[in-house]
Amino acid sequence: MLTPTRHLLQIEGMHPPEIGALLDLAESYVLLNRSGKTQRDLLRGRTLINLFFEDSTRTRTSFELAGKRLGADVINMSVANSSVNKGETLLDTAATLNAMHCDLLVVRHAQSGAPALLAQKVDAAVINAGDGTHEHPTQALLDALTIRRRRGRLEGLTVAICGDVLHSRVARSNIHLLTAMGSRVRVIGPPTLIPAEASRLGVDVFHDMKSGLQDVDIVMMLRLQKERMSSGLVPSSREFFRFWGLDAEKLAFAKPDALVMHPGPMNRGVEIASDVADDPIRSVIKEQVEMGVAVRMAVLDVLSRQAKRND
Ligand code: ASP
Repeated sequence: MLTPTRHLLQIEGMHPPEIGALLDLAESYVLLNRSGKTQRDLLRGRTLINLFFEDSTRTRTSFELAGKRLGADVINMSVANSSVNKGETLLDTAATLNAMHCDLLVVRHAQSGAPALLAQKVDAAVINAGDGTHEHPTQALLDALTIRRRRGRLEGLTVAICGDVLHSRVARSNIHLLTAMGSRVRVIGPPTLIPAEASRLGVDVFHDMKSGLQDVDIVMMLRLQKERMSSGLVPSSREFFRFWGLDAEKLAFAKPDALVMHPGPMNRGVEIASDVADDPIRSVIKEQVEMGVAVRMAVLDVLSRQAKRND
């Protein structure tokens, strides 16, 4: 069994063999995608609904591509043109989708816990595509796959997660995954953007980039999530960039071959300088996007096999 339940709601609680097996399967999908072949029989006759209550470019598109490459019928629903705008509750939406017998439900929602709530109410396998500040499990899996392909392992690497950790579901999923797989994790950012529970999560906390980035293998930058800030937690974008934005000067504190990552969308000149983001040797940001499709194919594959066993 590759996931503890028939859903993928969070990385927390997943065991290293389950994570490793998903990454191995995703690896095979990287090769399949690069060969230009597809495997359209796997999800033939199955329906995948992408239910996005928040904006998305990469995640929604890559779930759509992943579903189509495996032969599923894929339907994209966004809140902009759904009945949610007419006042329908999340649970009524769930009941409606359930009546349509969808097999895989990919959910993004601004409220932490919304996909878990839906999972209790629908027959479909639910995949969390990002819920509030809680988790974004497929992002952590694709980040891990990117690192593992470049470095050959996760164990023993030092990974710095930098910037707006407080609001980042990407950071939370990555912390759970990387610590479970034996990486050392540091979080770096202003005290106002580091969650109080950080040290309980088994990470080292730094407030300045110079000491935090010292000798790290991987530098993972995060977007400054202004839409989730109820009050100004940083003085200004310009000042944030000066102290916590990644430029060539700060990157020089990391290992000479340290890789630069960002889940996107990037705010250039706020958390990352353009020359670093576009550096063809150090930056693996585009590779992360490629790995996203393969990881989502692996997740759809595993969850649909588990659903078949339960049929
Ligand atoms: N795309 C990621 C997410 O949905 C990161 C971000 O929005 O900054 O969490």
